[in-house]
Amino acid sequence: MLQPYVAMMWQRILASALIKSNYVSSYKMTNQSISLIQSDRAETWQEILSDLITDPQELLRILKLNPDTSPYSLEALAQFPLKAPRPFVERIEKGNWHDPLLLQIWPSPFEENQADGFIADPLNEEEFNPVPGLLHKYQGRVLLTAAPHCAIHCRYCFRRHFDYRANSPSRARWEEAFAYIAADSSIEEVILSGGDPLAISDKQFHWLLQQLANIKALTTVRIHTRLPIVIPQRITSELLSCLNETRLRVVMVVHCNHYQELDSAVTAKFYTLADVGVTMLNQSVILKDVNDNAGALTDLNKALFQHNVLPYYLHMPDPVAGTGHFYVTDEHATQLIKKLHASLPGYLVPMLVRENPGERGKTRIA
Ligand code: SF4
Repeated sequence: MLQPYVAMMWQRILASALIKSNYVSSYKMTNQSISLIQSDRAETWQEILSDLITDPQELLRILKLNPDTSPYSLEALAQFPLKAPRPFVERIEKGNWHDPLLLQIWPSPFEENQADGFIADPLNEEEFNPVPGLLHKYQGRVLLTAAPHCAIHCRYCFRRHFDYRANSPSRARWEEAFAYIAADSSIEEVILSGGDPLAISDKQFHWLLQQLANIKALTTVRIHTRLPIVIPQRITSELLSCLNETRLRVVMVVHCNHYQELDSAVTAKFYTLADVGVTMLNQSVILKDVNDNAGALTDLNKALFQHNVLPYYLHMPDPVAGTGHFYVTDEHATQLIKKLHASLPGYLVPMLVRENPGERGKTRIA
């Protein structure tokens, strides 16, 4: 295990030396130096994606858990199937039903509870859907659904009921979305979301980035993704090359809820992304029994910063049908933020926010 890590560190040192010397200007790197910093294990991300754990029984076997002590819900599975990448599952503690990573993916019978006020589309996104696959909620920014699927199914997801089929990208729909963006010169930033925008191939992603770069008024592309966390192998040299080459400023907002999600394979990829000029931020969702304590959030934000990623948002969970067991109150979340302020420098305390239906921006809670 140590050898690939040491090799990766040497490659990183060499890549940094290339930047510091005049071989590579400012933060942009040559494709040759990008290939130097690759440390992917033999399995590709596509292979991992085609071998996701989708059977709860298999997950139980791997994690050495007894199904009698915590059953799963067939109804929840039918509504939102189990999807768990093996590199993520490897970080779950065996024999521990309370593991914070397991709780995020386990189709619990609690999902069958009909909690008051928890509905399929709590953010009323359809109202802001002028073109299929495009949401225009915020001033100066639009959100594009770049891929209709994710590598993992997070049980608390606010889009678990989203009609991805109606919003699936196709070339014709992309053209419609590009025309909409180009026609409004106030739009400066495109947020690629999903699903997970990195679930599309490098070739498709490259094409998409090129089309966006052709729209003059755009300055920034922001990528909201959980893939670098759950399958770090997704950060390929091809992807790094196209992020490096685009004229657009690239911001990547990864989605990590707990420090246990950060292993050395994940954090190594944060450095490679920063090395090609990507601004790295993180957003988390505050989830009952997963990360709703000051210790877990302190450790997470310190670990992120140690590896080049700044905490950005801490989201209140959205009241989505089937997710009531993850909910925390505003009072509890506010108390946590106070504790974080007492133990961390201000730049490591994420903004506690909520999305309110009908509002064009996030509402800051504390
Ligand atoms: S990766 Fe994001 S969009 Fe996909 S299921 Fe998880 S929270 Fe939802």
